[in-house]
Amino acid sequence: MRKPVFVGRCAVLATAAMLAVVGQSLAQAPAFETRKITDNVYIFRYVGHQSMFVVTPDGVIATDPIGYLRPQAVTTYIAEIRKVTPAPIKYVVYSHHHYDHIAGGKPFKDLGATFIAHRNAKTRLEALKYPDAVIPDVVVDDRHVIDLGGVRVELHYVGRNHSDNSLVMLVPKDKILFTVDFIPIETVQFRDMPDGYLPDWFESLDRVLAMDWDRMIPGHPYAGGRLGTKDDVRNLKLYMTDLSDAVKQAAGQGKCWDQAIQEVKLPKYEKWGSYAQFLPGNIERFCSYWGRGY
Ligand SMILES: [Zn+2]
Repeated sequence: MRKPVFVGRCAVLATAAMLAVVGQSLAQAPAFETRKITDNVYIFRYVGHQSMFVVTPDGVIATDPIGYLRPQAVTTYIAEIRKVTPAPIKYVVYSHHHYDHIAGGKPFKDLGATFIAHRNAKTRLEALKYPDAVIPDVVVDDRHVIDLGGVRVELHYVGRNHSDNSLVMLVPKDKILFTVDFIPIETVQFRDMPDGYLPDWFESLDRVLAMDWDRMIPGHPYAGGRLGTKDDVRNLKLYMTDLSDAVKQAAGQGKCWDQAIQEVKLPKYEKWGSYAQFLPGNIERFCSYWGRGY
């Protein structure tokens, strides 16, 4: 793996509590940073959230504004892009509709960016009417291609997983994939997998594995902030399979929900991020699935 180049850093340190949500120890990391991954691809991290942005001579393709209840994250994001290029920010692509990733995009809109998301994300945002979410201008069903300044970025819908509207973003020339929330790296799934779809999630992982990429940028800095690999996706699928099998057995013995939450342990994964905090919720979700068919 190429060594990341740190473009921008802030002197303010993130607290452990701010980063605990992603289950890793970046307590001494700066509150935000921008890393150059390839000639065109950058990661902007603000505390515990990450976005990819793609720089070309003709403009910038940004992704998630990550400004939920913190407008300074968005103005910082734009300032960090400006340190790299004066080119116009042409697009903002939403990974999915959850507020912690997509809220706060108005400063990008004011700069003239076109907002792109999956069709279901637009439907949900229109229904929710959250005031600090820019409604997408362009919707994607299965696939959408952005060709800008000699760089291609492909947006792919890989089915329902952590929401019904996740788009993954592929930069084919660099074999880089940006995925958010449904593929945590060496980290168990978030809480009781809210807004999650079973069994579709497994198929979604297979569709990601079938794509042509070798480094994955995640929407949170898991596992010390490293990029992911296909082995990470395979390992996550194995975790979810082991969890599913164990909870299915417990459900068959009438242990769902509370007894299963007490008794099911997956020691193979106890070193993973958020294991102690979120395993109970993960079990609850699979109890609902195997014990009730939800
Ligand atoms: Zn989410």
